[in-house]
Order: sequence, then C-alpha cells, then structure tokens
Amino acid sequence: MGRIRLLSDALASQVAAGEVVERPASVVKELVENSLDAGARSIEIAVQRGGIALIRVLDDGCGMGRDDALLCVERHATSKIRTKEDLGAITTLGFRGEALPSIASVSKFRLATRERDALTGTEVIINGGKMASVRDCGEPPGTQIEVRSLFFNIPARRKFLRSETTEFSHLEQTVRVQAVAHPGVRFALVHNERLLFQLPATADLRERVRGLAGADLASRLLEIEPQTHHGVTVRGYIGPPGMGRSDRKQMLTFLNGRPVEASMLTYALREGYHTALMKGNYPVTFLFLETDPAAVDVNVHPAKREVRFHDGHAVRDAVVTAVSDTLTRQMRRPVSGVGLTGTAPAAVAAATPAYLVPPSQSELIPMAEQHSLRRDWAEPAVSRTEISDETGYDRRSDPVSSESATPPPAAGADEPSPAATPRAEDFRLLGVLGKLYVLLEGKEGLVMMDQHAAHERVLFEEMRRRMETGGVPSQSLLVPLMVELEPRDFDLVAQNLETLARLGVAAEPFGGNTLKIDALPTFLKSDDPETFIHQIIDELRGASRLTSKMRLGEDMVATTVCRHAVKANDPLRPAELEKLLRDLLVCEMPYCCPHGRPTLIQIGYAELERKFGRRT
Ligand code: ADP
Ligand code: MG
Repeated sequence: MGRIRLLSDALASQVAAGEVVERPASVVKELVENSLDAGARSIEIAVQRGGIALIRVLDDGCGMGRDDALLCVERHATSKIRTKEDLGAITTLGFRGEALPSIASVSKFRLATRERDALTGTEVIINGGKMASVRDCGEPPGTQIEVRSLFFNIPARRKFLRSETTEFSHLEQTVRVQAVAHPGVRFALVHNERLLFQLPATADLRERVRGLAGADLASRLLEIEPQTHHGVTVRGYIGPPGMGRSDRKQMLTFLNGRPVEASMLTYALREGYHTALMKGNYPVTFLFLETDPAAVDVNVHPAKREVRFHDGHAVRDAVVTAVSDTLTRQMRRPVSGVGLTGTAPAAVAAATPAYLVPPSQSELIPMAEQHSLRRDWAEPAVSRTEISDETGYDRRSDPVSSESATPPPAAGADEPSPAATPRAEDFRLLGVLGKLYVLLEGKEGLVMMDQHAAHERVLFEEMRRRMETGGVPSQSLLVPLMVELEPRDFDLVAQNLETLARLGVAAEPFGGNTLKIDALPTFLKSDDPETFIHQIIDELRGASRLTSKMRLGEDMVATTVCRHAVKANDPLRPAELEKLLRDLLVCEMPYCCPHGRPTLIQIGYAELERKFGRRT
C-alpha cells in the first residue's frame, strides 16, 4: 500500500490556517475584510486579552441565509469569485474562501447571521473545526462572528503568541489601517470592555485621520492633488517635509482600497521625499493608488498583504511624481505664522530645490506628538525615537551629528570625543548665517547652532523647572478669552484646570461648554491664543489616556507652549547669543529641541579636510 494519504478536511484547514491565521490581528483582518465585502456601514470589534481570549466582529452587512452560513465555513467556499477571469481582476477584499474555515479550525467559533429581510437568523458553532451546533437565532440583520481561545487545539501555535499587549497592538494597527482605508464605514474598537475608539462614518479622509491620529497631525498633512499617470491614480495625504517616523506604522499605502505593502512603494515614497526626510526615517502617508484591477496580482500572498504590479515602473513613477509635486507645491506657498522658511535668503531659496529649504516650524513634529503616536500607532517595542526622547543623546559620544554629509566626528580615530558637555568657553562666536544659524568655532571644528531650536530647548527646560516649583508666570488678559469647546474636551479641561494653571493658563468653566481664559503664560508670543488653547487641549487629550503619567502630559503641553513662545529670526546681539549658548549647554538635554530636532551641528576638521581634498 502506498504511503501517500489525502489529508482530512479538518487537518487541511489547520494547515491552511498556518498561512492565513498567524495571530489575533490576522483573524481581525480577515473578519473585517469580510464585513467590508458584505457592504457593512458599521463594524464593531470587541476583543478580550489582546484577542487571544476573544475576538468579536459585528457588522450590519448583507448577512447570510442558512445555506450560506453552513457553506461559508467549508474550504474554498466563496461568493466572491467564480471563474478564472474573476481571479484575474479581483474587486473584493477576499476571494480565497479560506479564512472562515481556517479560523474555525483553530478556535471556538460562533457565527450568527441574518439577511436583512429574513425572519430568523442562523447560528453555527464550531469547535476546533468540528461542527457543534446549527440552529435558528434572533440576531439583528448582519453578521456577528466570535472567535474564542485562538489556537486552543494547537499548543505549538499558541506558544508563539506574544504578550497580550503586543498582540493587541498588532490587532489595533490592523483595525486602524482598515479604518483609514474605509472612512465611509463606522468603526468601533473595544478592548477588555474599554472603548478605544469610535469613528463615525465620514466622506472625508482627513476627518477619519483626525479621529485616529489627532487634529494636530491631520491639520498638517498635505493633500495630494489627485493625478493619473499611465493608468495609475494617486490621491490621499502625506506628511510635510521633515515629518518622519522611526517605523512604518504611519506609512500607509492602499491599492484599490486594500492596505498593501510593497518594498517598491517604500522606495518610491522615499525617492519622492528625497531630502525632505531625515535619513532612515519613514514618511507619514495615507496614500491611495487606484489601477485597473487587472493590472495587479493580489494573489501572491495567503494573507493578501503583498501585491505584484504588472507595470511596476508606472506605479513607481506615479508615486514619486505625486509626492514630490505635493511637497514642492507646499514649499512654494507663502509661509504663515512662525516660520523658519521665511528666514532663508531669497536668492538661496530660489536656487535650491524646494525641498532643501528647511521645513517651517509649524511642520515639525512636536515631541508631544511622537509620544501620543507611540500610544496610538506604535507597538510597545522601544523605538529609536523613544530612546532619544527619554535618555537624550548620549553626552559622551559626539554632541552633534549632521544628518546629511557629516559623519560623527567621534568616528574619526584622530579626534577624541569630548568626555562631557562642552562649556560655553570652549566656543568662539564667528557670526550668524541667514539670521538663524549661529556659527561657532569649537575645539574640533565648526559648530552651528540653530538659534531657534536652542531657544526652545532652554525655554522648555525652564518651564519644566518652574512647573515643579510653583508654576509658570502668567499675565492677566484685559478682556477674557472665551473658548467654546466640544463637550468631551470641556470635561477633560475641567478635570485638568490645575495642570493648566501650573502652565500659566488661568481658565474656568463659564456655563455650557464655554471656557473662560483669564490669563496666559507671560512669555507667550502667539497672536492667535485661541489656536494655542486648542492645541493645548489636544495635547492634554493625548496625555490623559496615560492616566498615571501626568508628568509626561505636562511635558507635552510644555512643548506646545514653547513652540508658541519663541519667535523665529529675532536678531540677537553677540552677548545674547553667548548667553543662549551658555543656557543651552547647561540644559539636561542640550543637543535637541523639545521636538527632537538638533540644536547644534558640528562639522569637524577631519570632515573639512576631506572636503577640501587635504586627506582622503
Ligand atoms: P472569502 O472572503 O475569501 O470569500 P471567507 O472564508 O473569508 O472567504 O468567507 C467565505 C464566504 O462567507 C464569503 O465569500 C462570504 O460570502 C461569506 N461571508 C463571510 N463573512 C461574511 C459577513 N460578515 N457577511 C456576509 N457574508 C460573509
Ligand atoms: Mg474573507
């Protein structure tokens, strides 16, 4: 007798599940895709213990009749494709007919579904791939799927699950990405009975991004003017020059409504940004590509994550052009508010490619935002941003590293790196370049100080000190400022009046949802205090989710305050510049501004010698 056997259906499903169902996040991805394919307008996802104990997805889509409810858990059962031609031009998210049987084979699975005008619904219960019961049930129209005890019958797979927090962060990212892809659908996510977000349906993508990533980020995104090259339409939003992330959690790309990853797209985006992005950083993008479904192959990966383009060059060109056009258009716009761009001498600006001009202050990412993003979009793993935020640059290593051409001086063996923060006496003032960059002669070569960034750092640390000891000085307003808030913001502020007071903002409730502002921090130079107040509230909202870390919240708010306190290109006298340098060098974290940008950049003698060809 031969040795080859056909696998039983149940076993075959478990094998397939190995590819489709990797972790709770993949279950959610498949279920949400099914809900979307079913035309749902609302999708609620509730999970317990990171999705390991329970995942429940509830939709108001078309539902299924009894026959379909039984068939959908069979392998290769799908309503989405019928013929080979269909496979060549997929327009739905699913098509393999493998997800439900795979999931049901590795969990305790319950499906309850009802078609819109059917009298009753159907409930199907399957345990580890074995049908346990089928009966009528009285569900509302739509479909509800519960997946309990994932991998309970495959201990080897269960062992590979990470902590609940990690699994949940993957799961949450999956839901966020789908929510961005489908702003017209209401999404709600609940973890361990706690509502994490609830996003109403909207026609506006920016509105959806605002709901997920906060108003500050959303307001700074640049809109791509929809454009079509070689049959590829590109639209969506991208971060302004300088807005980079250390991971790709916010570099979202979609193809015909499906979240996709393709290294080709990553390269194209980087190329589009060129020098508008720090080396090693990933851009923030909500990029939507549309092509003829026949021009791509989505059937290359069991989880349908990867895609293959028939004409990769066309897609690449379309993306590069769309991104660089959008950035260039942005840089040509007159600078509003506190902007560094305006300080670049006109001649230089004209001769420089637009994206080489330094980003304006309003485009930089406040550290505060990085923190809130870490909670919202990042996994618990420590990212590079976090390390530099929390520990500061390692002071023993080279103080400054220029992003572009300068290798860290410490790399040159002939240049011992300083053992401690240098003192102001170690520098000689040479002059000011472009009203912004203070040129200094240091022991190891040329040092440039970004006057504006340095000032922010100094102010930020001073604010923190003052907050610890009694509070920031504030100035009463002649006419109180009335700010009308959203109800939830109003409650938040009402609970945090004390924090605001320590920040120099005297506020009190004034009936309804109106807030009366009586005093603002003395050093505030903003001419738009209302926007300032709204930003502070945004920061508070971000911070308040970390209930035990109010201290961190204060840092966030302080960052915003500083941004509004420093005006660019104030000409400073030499004595003032020296004082600024002195103040900077005694800071806890002198080498970056509160938003994480460098305050000092050094070009060492070794580097200069290389540049002048004196050594190789
Ligand atoms: P696929 O999505 O690739 O077709 P699945 O195993 O995910 O395969 O689903 C099988 C079938 O079950 C789908 O084709 C669809 O007809 C039906 N189905 C699954 N989920 C839902 C849902 N939430 N609402 C309505 N029908 C659904
Ligand atoms: Mg599916």
